[in-house]
Amino acid sequence: MSELIKKTAAELVALMAKGEVSSVEVTQAHIDQINKVGDAVHSFLFTSADSALATAKEVDRRRAAGEKLPTLAGLPIAVKDNLATTDAPTTAGSKILEGWISPYDATVVTKLRNELMPILGKTNLDEFAMGSSTEFSAYGPSKNPWDLTRIPGGSGGGSSSVVASFQAPLAIGSDTGGSIRFPGAVTGTVGTKPTYGAVSRYGLIALASSLDQIGPVARNVLDAAYLQDVIAGHDPYDSTSLTQSLGSMVEAAKSGSVKGKKFGLIKQLAGEGFQQGVKNRFAEAIQLITEAGGEIVEVDCPSFDYAIDAYYLILPAEASSNLAKFDSVRFGMRVTPEGNPTIEKVMAATRELGFGPEVKRRIILGTYALSAGSFDKFYGAALKVRTLIQRDFDNAFSKADILISPTAPTTAFKFGEKVADPLAMYLNDIATIPANLAGIPGMSIPIGLADEDNLPVGIQFLAPNYQDAKLYEVGAALEGILEGIWGKRMIDFAPNLEVK
Ligand code: GLN
Repeated sequence: MSELIKKTAAELVALMAKGEVSSVEVTQAHIDQINKVGDAVHSFLFTSADSALATAKEVDRRRAAGEKLPTLAGLPIAVKDNLATTDAPTTAGSKILEGWISPYDATVVTKLRNELMPILGKTNLDEFAMGSSTEFSAYGPSKNPWDLTRIPGGSGGGSSSVVASFQAPLAIGSDTGGSIRFPGAVTGTVGTKPTYGAVSRYGLIALASSLDQIGPVARNVLDAAYLQDVIAGHDPYDSTSLTQSLGSMVEAAKSGSVKGKKFGLIKQLAGEGFQQGVKNRFAEAIQLITEAGGEIVEVDCPSFDYAIDAYYLILPAEASSNLAKFDSVRFGMRVTPEGNPTIEKVMAATRELGFGPEVKRRIILGTYALSAGSFDKFYGAALKVRTLIQRDFDNAFSKADILISPTAPTTAFKFGEKVADPLAMYLNDIATIPANLAGIPGMSIPIGLADEDNLPVGIQFLAPNYQDAKLYEVGAALEGILEGIWGKRMIDFAPNLEVK
């Protein structure tokens, strides 16, 4: 394994800036790792080694010519396959979009291109980002690099496994109910869901528009900060994108401290029903925060008990509407049944074959929740719960600067364990969903391995709207404390993947 791929994004950028290593060398080292472990981990749905190397060459040429380059120029990255790209297929993990090429780039992709970052490829996800394990991807699941028989989290298991197995230093994810944070927790990586609207959603294939948010996936907090600073900002193509700047996440990460801050321990997410090893690591993290001068207070968020129920009405309702556009006419696949079929029959046959079981389940659920007879009873009630959850957060943030919980109730589970039981799968999201319902930012960072299975555990930090910087401050601080105790980084505990 090349030493280069073990470095952090910040280290690689510094080495390139000093001219000690070229972008072609950095990019090639990651392509070599993709060739080595790519088939076994299955993080990518599409790789673009040639165009990544072409970008790298261009960066090296410009650097040699003495041009001033953007901060992350020459640093390779992987992009979740629900972001539109003009030079690679965008499938969202669905058969219905197999081979589809977008006529435009997502704004985030444009920003990566403007930053001159070589794009290594498109990462796997549960179909249309519905799921927690990548088992709902139409193209087969990604594997957890810590144990290839286990899930890498979902929906963004491609992006989490790609950074955890050193195939890319950074990746882009999207988080509608936890799809950046949950995969981060179970792969020992860092993931942030920024404040709703901090990053443009233009060109993101929508799952639930009022919940979706794009964010960074990395192996440490500072690297995530660098990426958030690149992708954030107002976009005239997305009217929900924020007009104000949230400041520099890199500065926040560099000045990180927990001292004097109040941490709200969410009573409803403090561990009841959670795996013992998760609870143990979480308790230790709390202890370390206290020793470093942070204050712990308990906060009560009673409406969180209904968060999953509300989310699994609001999300399917919005998704059923967003997915109506896959009608066999405008995008992707078309199935024409025998005889002289009507357009309705063509649409029905296409959607029957093109969508997988979880997508169909949610379209049916969402259509039902929005139908005339049940609108108030289901969708209306869910919206009321959403408001109550937002009030719980307001109340909690009047007592604490940052809220904390374990990111997930368990460590990575085995393939097949939950896929046949939708309710068991939905329960993984218990700690992550409230942030999406309220729009607030959240981050997961690794806090060690569970005693019973030696698999990564994550802590979740939540901050008030627009205060993403606080996440980076406390995240970087706790990460530093833990690395001091372990004498190495969390990811260095991961088994070396040399599989081919
Ligand atoms: N697991 C959640 C779901 O299935 C999260 C999805 C997401 O954040 N994209 O809806």
